[in-house]
Amino acid sequence: MRLRNLQLVNFRNYNNLHLEFNEKVNLLVGKNGQGKTNIVESIYMLSFGKSFRTNKDRELIKFDTENLYVGGNFSKHNTNGLIEVAIGKNKKGIKVNKIHIQKIQELLGNLNVVIFSPEDLRLVKEGPKERRAFIDKEISQIMPKYYNYLTSYNKILFQKNKLLKSNYIDEALLDVYDESLAQYGSYIYILRRDFIKKIANISIELHKKLTNNIEDLSITYKNQINVSDEDTVSTIYTRFLEKLVSSRKHDIETRTTRYGIHKDDLNIFINDLDVRLYGSQGQQRTASISLKLSEIELINKEVGEYPVLILDDVFSELDETRQRLLVSNLSVVQMFITTAEISHKNIFDKENTTIFNIDKGQVINIE
Ligand code: ATP
Ligand code: MG
Repeated sequence: MRLRNLQLVNFRNYNNLHLEFNEKVNLLVGKNGQGKTNIVESIYMLSFGKSFRTNKDRELIKFDTENLYVGGNFSKHNTNGLIEVAIGKNKKGIKVNKIHIQKIQELLGNLNVVIFSPEDLRLVKEGPKERRAFIDKEISQIMPKYYNYLTSYNKILFQKNKLLKSNYIDEALLDVYDESLAQYGSYIYILRRDFIKKIANISIELHKKLTNNIEDLSITYKNQINVSDEDTVSTIYTRFLEKLVSSRKHDIETRTTRYGIHKDDLNIFINDLDVRLYGSQGQQRTASISLKLSEIELINKEVGEYPVLILDDVFSELDETRQRLLVSNLSVVQMFITTAEISHKNIFDKENTTIFNIDKGQVINIE
């Protein structure tokens, strides 16, 4: 998968920008606050229809202007596509190949993008919420209908919790909510189970490579229901519903929902020890890198092409051995790398690299 070019109008600190990209490495170099992340943020928009930094679209519109535009031509499976996002004060439109899309899942999966930022290096160390967000984003990219299930589930969960907090609790309505939660929960469970199994298989190998065969990384699905891998969606539905019903009294007392896929997590072990509890900083970071890189391999396996990779500020957080390992392992992947440190240039071979020097919302020089 390749992003061929990018057109920005009134996006963040850019007036009007057109860039043609390298098929391999694109280095975005500049001092702090000049607009490096803004460029990769716009690339991310083409994949997900929103920013990874904010949920407020209007923050993306250049100060003192009304509308922004982001457009990019990409190629995938030897065909070309065009994605365009336009945002005004109270409106937003997304087009794929000149056709307006109605729902975000029609956009997801067109241009696959994986972003790796310093927060991702803390993926293992952080709480379950961050790991769930990781899982959700990745499955949505590979399987856009997952995003539907999740949105429906979250909506119902929100309504149920609202009801639990109200003065009068209609139990018949709680029944309806619980049935829906069990239904969407079981679809989500199955897709998560499959995804985690696949990512675990890939990451164990990658982690061996990154640690010279010293460490065995094991990743499993941490959830609240006891089912075997062979169980089907109807068994899982039944199990979820049992859990919800058994917890009814507790839910009413605590005014919140105790069981469900909104509590899931990953178990991450190295050589049989829980990395979150017993791992060193370095081990936690390396495990995070393994997980993140597995995602790239998995997209390649599922979609048949590697995603575009964004490394935002992550490069300077890695030691040189890991930098080189990363680059050599991903030589087939198109990369966008932001860095304030010019010295990183030396890691890349000149032939396959384009350097964009960025200063105050302008690309002042291309090498
Ligand atoms: P760092 O190396 O610190 O990460 P960066 O080059 O990645 O820096 P960006 O985050 O891309 O920096 O850009 C930040 C700049 O963009 C800031 O100077 C900020 O004022 C400007 N900026 C952010 N949003 C807008 C906006 N809506 N309109 C105009 N300028 C904006
Ligand atoms: Mg930045």
